[in-house]
Order: sequence, then C-alpha cells, then structure tokens
Amino acid sequence: MGFDEIKKQDKLYIANTYNRFPTDLECGKGATLYSSSGDKYVDFGSGIAVNTFGVNDEEWKSAVIEQLNKIQHASNLYYTRPQTELAQLLCEKTGAKKVFFSNSGAEANECAIKAARKYSFDKYGEGRYRIVTLKNSFHGRTMATLSATGQEGMHRYYMPFLEGFDYAEPTYEGVRSCCSQKTCAVMMELVQGEGGVRALNSDDVKKIAEFCRKKDILLIIDEVQTGNGRTGRLYAYEHYDISPDIVSTAKGLGGGLPLGATMFFGKCENVFAAGDHGSTFGGNPIACAGACSILKRIDKNLLLEVQGKSAYLFTHLGRIKNVLSVTGLGLMIGLETTKNARSVAEACLQRGLIVLTAKNKIRLLPLLNINKEEMDFALKILNEVISE
Ligand SMILES: *Cc1c(COP(=O)(O)O)cnc(C)c1O
Repeated sequence: MGFDEIKKQDKLYIANTYNRFPTDLECGKGATLYSSSGDKYVDFGSGIAVNTFGVNDEEWKSAVIEQLNKIQHASNLYYTRPQTELAQLLCEKTGAKKVFFSNSGAEANECAIKAARKYSFDKYGEGRYRIVTLKNSFHGRTMATLSATGQEGMHRYYMPFLEGFDYAEPTYEGVRSCCSQKTCAVMMELVQGEGGVRALNSDDVKKIAEFCRKKDILLIIDEVQTGNGRTGRLYAYEHYDISPDIVSTAKGLGGGLPLGATMFFGKCENVFAAGDHGSTFGGNPIACAGACSILKRIDKNLLLEVQGKSAYLFTHLGRIKNVLSVTGLGLMIGLETTKNARSVAEACLQRGLIVLTAKNKIRLLPLLNINKEEMDFALKILNEVISE
C-alpha cells in the first residue's frame, strides 16, 4: 500500500479527529525517519515527546524484545517484575513513595485527580473536592482531564463537564485567589506544552508550593510532557526547587509504548487501598521493561548533554530573522515567529524536517540524544523557512 492508498483508506475508515501532515512514517533509525515512498526526514517531534531516544533504538528494543519473549501481559491480579523494577527506579530517582501505572497521560492525571479527592475525603470528609488548574493548561482528553483543562475553546459539545475545577491565572496571586476551603489540590504543568510552550515563573511556582503546603492543598504537577529528561532535569519540578505531592507522567516514559505513571510523595503514600483504583493494561510488562531501559539512561551525563543541546538551539534559534521569541525549557522549545505556525511546519516537512506546533508557535521536541549534525540541519531548514 503506497501513501495515496493509505491516505484514501484513512479518510474512509478513521474517525476525522486528526489534521494529519501529508506523509506517512514507515521506518527509521534514531532521528531519521522514512515514509513508505522513501522520503527522508529529520525528526524534531519525537512523536510528541514520546520516542525519547528515537525510533528503532537498540537498547530500548532489546529490553522490549527480551520481555516480549517472556510474557506480554499478566493483568494486575499478579506480580510482574518489570513493573516493580520500574516503580523502584522512579521512587529512587525522585523520592516518591509509591507509583500507580496506567497507559497514557490522561489516565495518569485521572489517577492524580481521584487521589487528591480521596486524600481530602479521608482527612476532611465531604465537600473539599475542588481542584485549581491554570488557564491555558492541557491535561488530557477524557471527561475529567478535559474538565481540568483550562481552555474555554475545549469546553464545547460535551456538556456537562466534571464539576469541581477552578481555572486560575498562572501566577501565585491567580492561584491563591482561586483557592477556597473547598480546594483539595492545585494541578499544573510547569511548562505549558500544548498551551504554547510557556514556562511558569519560578517565584510564582515556589509561592504556590508554599501556600499549598500551609493549607494542606495537594500540589499535583503534570509532567506528562515535561518529564523523563525532556527539560534537562529528570522531572521539571527539580528546576523549581519544590516538593510536589503527586507527579503524573507518560509520553517519554515508555519510549514509544503506551505507559502512564502517577507518583505519590510523602503524605499521599497510602491514599489508595485495594480496590480504590485500577487498570487492566496499566503497567504492562513490555512497556515497563522498555521504560526501565529509558530511565536508566537518563542519568547526570545525559541531562548535562540535554542542557548543552538546549543552550545551542536557543542561541541559534534566537538569531533567525522573523523569530519573535524562543520559549521553553531544555529540549522543549517554542518558537514564535511572524509566520503562521502550521504553514512553517508544512514547509519544513517538505524540506525534510519534522516539527510540531502548539497554538501560534512552532514546537520542537527533539530526541534527547539528538546530535549536532541533526541540530544544524534543523536550524538550516528553520532558517530557510522562517526568514524567507
Ligand atoms: C499530552 C499531555 C497529556 C495527555 O496525554 P495522553 O497520553 O494524550 O492522554 C496530559 N498532560 C500534558 C501536559 C500533556 O502534554
């Protein structure tokens, strides 16, 4: 089946939810991808921050294949080694006490929302259930996480949305004034990804964390996109010198397989008892085996490299004509230009470079092991397209 045929079948049989770019992706190695027609691309999207070390990566593949040869699924009625190994790794690397595994970012956030309400119910009884999230945030597509998402444009059609979310301006004052006696948690991304790659102000975040601690309001950090080395630290909250109560993550954790994790720190450790929450697929042994190999590689050296590559890209992107701003953290980069973001992304694709968009920005999410040659190629193409 060639590309034209795939496109035709897609139009016939796939629900119309995606505005796809005009190519298929069939195979590749690292950051190099090929379409079925043989078009070659350098990938600066990583499948939306998922393929942490690119495609067809030897280490990740061998971890996955080794597990594939043992057992592909067991259900959570039984113990499986990759799941406990991954939970131990996550806890040792972050200081978290317990982990719940799911299959996606939305599910990791669902779990965080349920845990926050349960924590408050156990301690304070009914009525303290509200969660403050930020304007312009993105927390997922399920009914609860869509309700948590602070973007009016996304609150259409599917009424009624889940009750109990208050949307704050992304500042300390904004969050504080949204909190009440009924608030059980504040949930936020530290770099708003889908919202346009916007990092929160460090002072505001620290004050929010301090305020939450005093009021016993749980601080939930959504690290679905920012997590797993993406920002140059293992988790972005480390940049902000705060101690969250719950951290959700997904995307890059599985290195390409569906996997979500919700981590519970200190006082949330025992929020769930048997039967309170669960998942059929969550913590699948193959996904977890792959994730273990990914997490082990995100060490001090790799993070230093990510920081170096980030600095290189920020410097050179800032010099491109018609670039208005470069935002983000680490290898999560937003580019505001005088041009339409979608048109820039399409022009880049035509020239062999895959980039993403977020709102009115070009969004770059390269592999954590992207190399200099690939970065220079991306800079050259972006320069051609944006400055022309
Ligand atoms: C992508 C994303 C989600 C949703 O993840 P899914 O795996 O698509 O459910 C939630 N929060 C943030 C910050 C994200 O970037």
